[in-house]
Amino acid sequence: MIRVLVLVAVVVGLVLWLLKARRSQGGGNAARDGAARSGPPATMVACAHCGVHLPRPDAVQDAQGRSFCGEAHRLAGPR
Ligand SMILES: [Zn+2]
Repeated sequence: MIRVLVLVAVVVGLVLWLLKARRSQGGGNAARDGAARSGPPATMVACAHCGVHLPRPDAVQDAQGRSFCGEAHRLAGPR
C-alpha cells in the first residue's frame, strides 16, 4: 500500500513539474516576443488631473493638448 502512495506522489509531482516547466517556457517566449515587438520606449506624460504618468499613446488629449489618463479625468478637467 505504501508503494502505491509513493508511486502516486511521484507521478503527481512529475506532472506538476512538467506543467510548471511548460508554463514557464511559454511565458519566456511571450516575454521575448513582447520585447521584440515593442520598439523604442514611448514618451511618458502626466495626467493633468491626477498626475499619474502613462505612455503618450495611451493618454487622452483635450482640445488644449493636455494629457489625461482617461475619459473621466478629461471630463473632470485639470486640477
Ligand atoms: Zn488621471
